[in-house]
Amino acid sequence: MERPRRESRPVQVGDVQIGGNAPISVQSMTVSKTHEVETCLEEIHRLADAGADVVRVAVPRPEDADALKDIVQGSRVPIVADIHFNHQYALKAIEAGIAKVRINPGNIGKPEWEREVLLAAKEKGIPIRIGVNSGSLEKDLMDKYGYPKPEALFESAMRHVEICQKNGFEDIVISVKHSDVFYMIQAYRMVAERTDYPLHLGVTESGSLATGTVKSSVGIGTLLADGIGDTIRVSLATDPVEEVKVGHRILKSLGIGRPGVNIIACPTCGRLVGDLFTIVEEVEEAVAAQNFDKDLNVALMGCAVNGPGEASGADLGVSLGRGRAHLFKRGEIVGTVDEDEIVEAVIKAIEEWDEDEENDDATVTDGVTESSGDGEAGSNVRKPNLPTS
Ligand code: SF4
Repeated sequence: MERPRRESRPVQVGDVQIGGNAPISVQSMTVSKTHEVETCLEEIHRLADAGADVVRVAVPRPEDADALKDIVQGSRVPIVADIHFNHQYALKAIEAGIAKVRINPGNIGKPEWEREVLLAAKEKGIPIRIGVNSGSLEKDLMDKYGYPKPEALFESAMRHVEICQKNGFEDIVISVKHSDVFYMIQAYRMVAERTDYPLHLGVTESGSLATGTVKSSVGIGTLLADGIGDTIRVSLATDPVEEVKVGHRILKSLGIGRPGVNIIACPTCGRLVGDLFTIVEEVEEAVAAQNFDKDLNVALMGCAVNGPGEASGADLGVSLGRGRAHLFKRGEIVGTVDEDEIVEAVIKAIEEWDEDEENDDATVTDGVTESSGDGEAGSNVRKPNLPTS
């Protein structure tokens, strides 16, 4: 089934295209002080290693604006300068060769300052993200709506867009972030319906790793499933490397991420016959460390009752028996390994995986991939001959 994708105009952020049907990029933001250049660059490298396509840095002080040149030169991924109100910082960022500026033109202060920033950005081909946030809405909109409702976020975004358009500037990305997931979804839908600017998705102030992951997955995932969104940032109150990992996992869960290994694992139940949690953790760690760009599903399943169904429906799979496991490749059992060798065997199978290999002899039958893998016994698949308890 073809996945929907809203048509949006392309915007170039350094060597990363946002919108215009480009792959959905994953962004994050540093937590270090931008003017502490070495520390900031170290953090940017860690984010890039984790898979961040674009990294944003905050520019709240003059020394941060002064540091941007070194940050841009030292980074291998495009850098976005996050600026509030100060048009001088925006001009400095543009001068420093920043890839994008996040600024709301309507908050800069004077029309001539707005114009100066927009013209400078236009001259250098630097896009602007209009970043509307439920926590910092204009006072008159708060008075009008009484709460940062989706309509208020939309109206705020359109004000800034209008200023850009008046100055002949259309290289725009829009975000309308809200801490309320439901309102966030509605706000983005309004912008998506009424403009063709690319959208930067995010749930703001989403919380800790666990809570924020759920909120972001629901908010960002709901929109992406409808084809809305061109770049994403998961905001988490933890190491931003986690934001990047969660971002890629959201994309992968919808089958729209960059190529890579997708781990499927059963939740386990009373039929579990081994230490699946440790196996899953170790396989995930090894896969992340090796950053495979092979596009394949790897299923790790906890028993020989329902496990074989999911394991044989994936590209590679493991179905635990007592003390050992069957290893599946393209629906066929290709070996049996002891439990303590499973991680090594799975990683070796991924390394040796040849995406072009023909699947001539696979005997996957109807119904094989319908195993619930959620503890429901009785799928209609061929069972291997491993002991189940
Ligand atoms: S029945 Fe399903 S959930 Fe339970 S251990 Fe087997 S595969 Fe995992």
